[in-house]
Amino acid sequence: MRWKRRTGRATQPWRVSARTLITCSISTIIGFSAICASVMIDLRRSEEVRARQALENMAASIGADISRNVELYDLSLRAVASNMLLPEINEVSKPVRQLILFDRSSTAKNFGTIQVFDARGRLSLESSTLDPLPEDRSDADFFQVHRDRPDTGLYVGRPAQHHGQYSIVLSRRISTPDGRFAGVVAGSIRLGYFRDLFARLTLGSGGNITVLRRDGTVVVGAPFDSAAIGRNLARAPAVTRALTEPSGWSSSYGALDDLPRLLVWRNGNEPLVVIASKSWDSVYAYWRNEAAEIGAMMLALIVFVLAATQVAAREIQLRAKIESRLEQLATTDPLTGLKNRRKFDETIELEWWRAQRTGAPLGLLMIDADHFKSYNDTHGHQAGDQVLVGIAVCISDSVRRAGDCAARYGGEEFAVLLPGTSEADALRVAETIRSKVKLWAGEACTTSISIGAASVTPSRDTDWSGLLNAADRALYMAKAAGRNRCASAVVRHPSPAASLAA
Ligand code: GH3
Ligand code: MG
Ligand code: MG
Repeated sequence: MRWKRRTGRATQPWRVSARTLITCSISTIIGFSAICASVMIDLRRSEEVRARQALENMAASIGADISRNVELYDLSLRAVASNMLLPEINEVSKPVRQLILFDRSSTAKNFGTIQVFDARGRLSLESSTLDPLPEDRSDADFFQVHRDRPDTGLYVGRPAQHHGQYSIVLSRRISTPDGRFAGVVAGSIRLGYFRDLFARLTLGSGGNITVLRRDGTVVVGAPFDSAAIGRNLARAPAVTRALTEPSGWSSSYGALDDLPRLLVWRNGNEPLVVIASKSWDSVYAYWRNEAAEIGAMMLALIVFVLAATQVAAREIQLRAKIESRLEQLATTDPLTGLKNRRKFDETIELEWWRAQRTGAPLGLLMIDADHFKSYNDTHGHQAGDQVLVGIAVCISDSVRRAGDCAARYGGEEFAVLLPGTSEADALRVAETIRSKVKLWAGEACTTSISIGAASVTPSRDTDWSGLLNAADRALYMAKAAGRNRCASAVVRHPSPAASLAA
């Protein structure tokens, strides 16, 4: 009997399964999507910071301009209020008095004339004329405030229309050295000043500026809205904060348009408070476009990767199926459906290594049909083939444990490998096969088989040739003893001693 000895295990080439490919692709997509999302979130945050800084700069520059002009105008009012108390002021001529009291600030664009009212609210002096027309402003709020509250300081009035133009009145109390009320000096700033100031700035879409009195009354806004002038916004939460905190920002609904807005304010304890705001919609406009573009590109990339992965996965599955079919064809005996000789050689090599490692016995049966030549001669080769198929079915029915390997060894010879099986157990399996074949063949048929059994626990530095020799020897012993029987042999290296079992 001949066999091919193997000295090492066959190495499998590394293959990517369809599942691994899909897992890798999905992981890559998730990874890239996460990076993309993180970049977009960072971009969104930087848009917020940029918008806030731009609004802060705008509010600061507007606030500084307003403060400077109000302060200049207030200096003129203070000068009038103090010079009015000079004892000589009523003794000089009207033109000289005019020169002493009024500088030229009231002639600046958008600044109104400065007027002096006596303690009963009657107009006594005016910067633009030596002989002012009679006028009684005793019912005006600025007059009443200064009359009733000596510590008012500079008072900024509510915006009101005067000669068709909106303006705010700035006024100061004239007090005698002993603190008595001596009248009021008042001037006005036209809202045109604010409109000119705002016109120099680029607000951008969704941008808004609102100038408030310290009580929350709207003085003016950009874009200009005459309906908003004079409205009190003190109850709006963001405005409440703007009136109390020196500077800051908040995200809130706009008090005038009810849009979600980013609001930034500069207060600085000035008489007027500036709030600059931008709708969140316009803050995120650029970011939204970027996000949509990058999102669309990512989506296209994801669709492409998924489609390519699906095509590759299908190809891999198809190849795996073909390979498995080829493997099956390459390892199966076409007549009996048992494993072929090549597969048997691979399996015995593998099981020998395993048994060496685990210390479990490895059993082997060698099976041969009796007088098969004469059966063929009598009944023909086709009938002989049917007998071989019948014997294969009887072997398969008797060998059911996982790891057992039944193979057609060649011609009318079969081999059965029984891992973890002792010699006695191997002989029991052999007897089962033999009696099954006899039962299947029936009384009339002369078909029978002889089986040689052997088992060994492999020691180091041995190969499986000793086991095959022993099973082969046992088979010839069974033949010599009259056929249709089983025999076993003890494996002894190098010459196994055989004994007849049945
Ligand atoms: P023994 O009891 O001593 O084994 O006698 P035997 O006739 O079976 O022994 P031998 O080895 O001389 O004959 C084997 C025969 O098996 C030869 C051949 O005709 C037959 N044979 C081998 N392979 C096949 C096959 O695939 N199909 C058929 N029908 N017969 C085969
Ligand atoms: Mg033979
Ligand atoms: Mg034979």
